[in-house]
Amino acid sequence: MLGGMQDFELRVPRLLDHAAREHGGREIVTRWADGSETRSDWAGIHADARRLAQALERLGMKPGDRIATLGMNHGHHLTAWYGAIGMGGVVHTINPRLFDEQLVYIANHAEDRVLFYDRAFQPIVDRLRDQWTTIEHYVVFDGDGEGSFRALADAEDGDYAWVEGGEREPCMLCYTSGTTGNPKGVLYEHRSTLLHAMMIVSPSVLGLSSRSSVLPIVPLFHAGAWGIPFAAPLAGSKLVFSAVNEPAVLCELMTREKVTVSSGVPTVWLGLFAHLDGGAESPAHLKLVTIGGSAAPRAMIARLTDMGVEVKHLWGMTETSPVGTAAAPPANWDDLDIEAQLDILTKQGRIPFGVELRIVDDEDRELPRDGEASGRLQIRGPWVVKRYFGASEDAVDADGWFDTGDVAVLHPDGTMQITDRSKDVIKSGGEWISSVDLENAAVGCPGVAEAAAIGIAHPKWDERPLLLVVRKPGSTVTAEEIGAHLAQHVAKWWLPDAIEFVDELPHTATGKLLKTALRERYRDYRLV
Ligand code: ADP
Repeated sequence: MLGGMQDFELRVPRLLDHAAREHGGREIVTRWADGSETRSDWAGIHADARRLAQALERLGMKPGDRIATLGMNHGHHLTAWYGAIGMGGVVHTINPRLFDEQLVYIANHAEDRVLFYDRAFQPIVDRLRDQWTTIEHYVVFDGDGEGSFRALADAEDGDYAWVEGGEREPCMLCYTSGTTGNPKGVLYEHRSTLLHAMMIVSPSVLGLSSRSSVLPIVPLFHAGAWGIPFAAPLAGSKLVFSAVNEPAVLCELMTREKVTVSSGVPTVWLGLFAHLDGGAESPAHLKLVTIGGSAAPRAMIARLTDMGVEVKHLWGMTETSPVGTAAAPPANWDDLDIEAQLDILTKQGRIPFGVELRIVDDEDRELPRDGEASGRLQIRGPWVVKRYFGASEDAVDADGWFDTGDVAVLHPDGTMQITDRSKDVIKSGGEWISSVDLENAAVGCPGVAEAAAIGIAHPKWDERPLLLVVRKPGSTVTAEEIGAHLAQHVAKWWLPDAIEFVDELPHTATGKLLKTALRERYRDYRLV
């Protein structure tokens, strides 16, 4: 032997050990739904997680067992993750906004044995309990009565050593929100989770340190809150949770807890803007906001930038743990004017070490990174899914590429730009029209609140765009006005053949447009 380095399995509980040892006093703050507040710190979460791990073992849980949570963002939810993972279990975060049918499907499919839930979701539990065939124990997160999280943990002494094992063992299970077919489970491993966390803390992504105070507005049940609960202990950052998403509450927390970094989907920031327009003071300490889940409009990025907040797009999906790219400023950033900077920030970002991206055409031929060619976006790397939970076949091709279902352009410097979902792109005369670009252009028209573009069968062109528009309250904007606005922003042959007004548009549980439902609803629509 020439020599060598030590064995060190990349296991998730090490994150919590590190945080408790090196940053034990760094706080974890929770603002509960009833307005009350609790404060703990990494040492406190560490102690509680060990007690919870003991309690789960006492309930008969074994390594590999799935332990589900149905909860909003709070310290107990975080503790449940670490307690369950620490005893070798697999945390299955359930999105409470899913439809009943999906809630039943995923808990049964995952074969969850324990369910931790918020009292606010008692009606869901009462309604579905009989249909959940594998759940043996129900534990309420909030409150301290019998069978509650607190009672369970407090019955143990916390003298506990984490279950050891290999780094390729699973630790977390997240289901995709299932815009097509049944939701699919993505099984994260200890190693993939740790590597992803190391990427998240880096300066090109969240740039976390022990000076950071992080408010993840993205829910813990949405692709692991984008990895923040694992990145924060690694960096020794403070975590601030709110169990409600009201802009006034979030804004107040940001100011009081000196929040420096926050993350959420685009609609969250619209809510914050409305609150600020009402006269509230903007959070003074906020330095970075990351936005993902869907594209952030240019005006949103511009406004946050104006407030002195750095904005970063994060792109990814449940299948990629979820971060695949982050909008990091290029080397010549300071030489660029604001419009050129915004051009960069509206794209989805650059590729961090660890993942590889490519675009391919319909015959799977790789397309150039020339800023022009657009194709199906594929990804591979250590935190990208290989095989869905319980599936009998891999979800990747022979070379390990996973097809994201997104359509993208890669620019020469590696910046990735999503142009559409491959199922949503409108195929007109052999060319592609980006439904996303049409929608973004439409919402830039005064009076338009929301828009969706879908392809309608056309005898000559194969498909042509139909634009569905929700007007802003009180607006009387007409189809002609929207058409004229669009003509200034998109190619002539992209202009929708018809524009229809609707009261509302259907959304998925994570707030995205549900285009499958729209295509179904307008299947027999005739373009005149
Ligand atoms: P699901 O795929 O189940 O709807 P995900 O949260 O995993 O739920 O969604 C992933 C998809 O969201 C991506 O494939 C992409 O289409 C879209 N998306 C995520 N982040 C961005 C972003 N920053 N810009 C544009 N689209 C995004």
